[in-house]
Amino acid sequence: MSHWSLVYESFDPKRESLREALCTLGNGCFATRGAAEEAQADEIHYPGTYLAGGYDRLESSIAGRTVTNEDLVNFPNWLLLKFRPEDGDWFNLMAVDILSYRQELDLKEGVLKRTVRFRDHDGRESTGASRRLVHMSDPHFAAIEYAITAENWSGRAVVQSALDGSVINAGVARYRELNSKHLDTVSMHEFGPETVCLLVQTNQSHIRIAEAARTRVYRGEQLVEPERESIRDGSVIGQELVFEVEQREAVTVEKIVSVYSSRDRAISEPSLEARLALQRCGRFRDLLLSHARAWKFLWRKCDVLMKPGNSDQMVLRLHIFHLLQSVSPNTVGLDAGVPARGLHGEAYRGHIFWDELFIFPFYTFRLPQITRSLLLYRYRRLNVARCLAAAEGYEGAMYPWQSGSNGREETQVVHLNPRSGAWGPDYSRYQRHVNTAIVYNAWQYFTLTGDKEFMVSYGTEMILEIARFWSSMAQYNRRTKRYEIVGAMGPDEYHEKYPDSDAAGLRNNAYTNVMAVWVLERALQLLELLGAGDLREIKEKLALHSEEVERWRDITHKMTIPFHGHGIISQFEGYEQLQEFDWDGYRKKYGNIERLDRILKAEGDSADRYKVSKQADVLMLFYLLPPKELRRIFRQLGYEFDDELVRRNIEYYMARTSHGSTLSKVVHASVLDRIDRTAAWSMFRAALESDVADVQGGTTPEGIHLGAMAGTLDIVLRHYGGIDTTSETIAFYPRLPAALRGLHLRLRHRSVWYELDIDDRRFSLKVDSDEPGPKTVNIEGELHELTPGNVYEFPLLERAYEQVG
Ligand code: BGC
Repeated sequence: MSHWSLVYESFDPKRESLREALCTLGNGCFATRGAAEEAQADEIHYPGTYLAGGYDRLESSIAGRTVTNEDLVNFPNWLLLKFRPEDGDWFNLMAVDILSYRQELDLKEGVLKRTVRFRDHDGRESTGASRRLVHMSDPHFAAIEYAITAENWSGRAVVQSALDGSVINAGVARYRELNSKHLDTVSMHEFGPETVCLLVQTNQSHIRIAEAARTRVYRGEQLVEPERESIRDGSVIGQELVFEVEQREAVTVEKIVSVYSSRDRAISEPSLEARLALQRCGRFRDLLLSHARAWKFLWRKCDVLMKPGNSDQMVLRLHIFHLLQSVSPNTVGLDAGVPARGLHGEAYRGHIFWDELFIFPFYTFRLPQITRSLLLYRYRRLNVARCLAAAEGYEGAMYPWQSGSNGREETQVVHLNPRSGAWGPDYSRYQRHVNTAIVYNAWQYFTLTGDKEFMVSYGTEMILEIARFWSSMAQYNRRTKRYEIVGAMGPDEYHEKYPDSDAAGLRNNAYTNVMAVWVLERALQLLELLGAGDLREIKEKLALHSEEVERWRDITHKMTIPFHGHGIISQFEGYEQLQEFDWDGYRKKYGNIERLDRILKAEGDSADRYKVSKQADVLMLFYLLPPKELRRIFRQLGYEFDDELVRRNIEYYMARTSHGSTLSKVVHASVLDRIDRTAAWSMFRAALESDVADVQGGTTPEGIHLGAMAGTLDIVLRHYGGIDTTSETIAFYPRLPAALRGLHLRLRHRSVWYELDIDDRRFSLKVDSDEPGPKTVNIEGELHELTPGNVYEFPLLERAYEQVG
């Protein structure tokens, strides 16, 4: 298998929806699932096209109430291209004998290819070979080249090329009871003999999107003029093209599509721009050239190379590929966030979650302008976050658990359990820790880039307002003489509330509390970092008084962390009173028990009653903060942090976690690397499989898991590459797992590029910087001055975790 290609050698209707998600093509502005050109939505296929920030709201009646859901809208299907002999049926994979089949996602050039040779029931054999792209440097273009060869016949062939505006949001079975028709057709036009254009508008958000398609036929280099007939059928506009085919002579149909929306800048009106764009556009091969070049530039910065022959190489590249298709340099300035499930499907309705925490490092280490743009998505929604805090009686800004168009809370209030078919309350919005993630991300962007201008203009205000929120959520308990946070959930979604309680949220979730202290410390640090003028202005703007700042400082010394047993950090207060769970019994009964919450609810029980976690919760602390930092915080709060605390807690929670979120394996692979590198490597490989093998059995077809994809790359960089950016000077402590044996990657830190090459005995480092003079780096604990352009070699050392952390 090539390490640049995801290849399928046969058609498998049961796996088609997974392949569609994995073969999605996108450019950070829009993306289209890898559905077959001839397909429309049915039980096997689900073509979907999604626009970054393309949301719309609809009301539905469900479980006796009216709910409003905001969806990432499925926009018109531009792929439609089907073929038949003039006197035959339309090509349909389910109705022909497939003689050979090959589908290839070419990651290097960003092209989806499919070649099918088939026999229809009149005995005619034909080959259809398509190549498809969604343009990476001109984000308004997409194109298909479709070569038809009549293998044992000749005669007239018919091709239908169309734009289908009749699509609805039907990609997720459990949302099907909800309203799903977001689009109204505004106009359909033909421009000249070759081009059709469809303009649609979303019902509520009134986003207009125009797609124009130009279809041409070539025999070799020669343009063929086919007979053309218009098609207008409801919201579908297109053409039927009829032309002669000779036996064994390929005829190529080229469909070039331009896409513009009313969210685009520098435009007059979407359908006008879509039409003009086609006038300036050449052939498929011209688009392919500039598209492949854009990918070459991206790969140069972003590729992560394992030792040749490593079977994980392709999957790692698949992750890089989908990250760059979901958010790319084209996204910068678009006012779009990064949906947890990419632009690849409709799961979680394209909403934006705390998953940013896992996703951003990939960009910040390579293309930091992307992170900046994604952080500005949050900044622009600060006022709404202020309103959300006020509505719940808090101060400052409280960002929503799920965010979409304008930053209001998009988490649904009722949730369908697909196992039981019952709708029940959804308390997941009580995961206030999303606010910590926003601060963590802004802080990490700032420390990795040194972009003070960002921090002064935007980051500070967000961080101070979130600090204010945590401070107002923390209550002082006179009895314990400590602050407490009550009514919040941790990342583990199995515990939304106490068993037998109707009130959502828990008392003193350890992750939430410790990270709230960390946030308050960053806020205090910022007040020290700002210049006098900026400080005066922000204090005046936010009416920030010294008593408030004093309270922040007080909380950083008196926050509660619950413990039980011998030095086990309790996930939340009262955790120790929950029942132990019969893991073996349930595994025996149900096989895969990753979604234990649904299994238990369907049994009339609840995960709330047991010591079970969907995903890392306490262990998130070890994922985000180095042990020496945690030790400092714990001791400042008056708690013990002995040498064995990390190991003890990892072992305790590992044994009680079902990994019902793909994020969980990433966190466990990372924290385990501190204590058991063999187990960590197995966990890392399991995390790599999350999407390519759809380990959750059906979630990937609804959208990839960007957090898990980026998380695996972060483990490679931070753990295997051993890159530590927690101090001013970048540090390198490479430590490859035995199975890896070689790694090559580039990363950017404070405007300097580093190229790292590791094998089993040595590693080399090259610095690339525009600024003159040597750069100081920390190599295995020693400072070195490296001159840009030179390659430096170092022996590989084994280091204990504590030295690294
Ligand atoms: C996880 C959350 C995550 C969300 C979106 C859920 O299954 O529990 O942590 O934010 O998916 O990816």
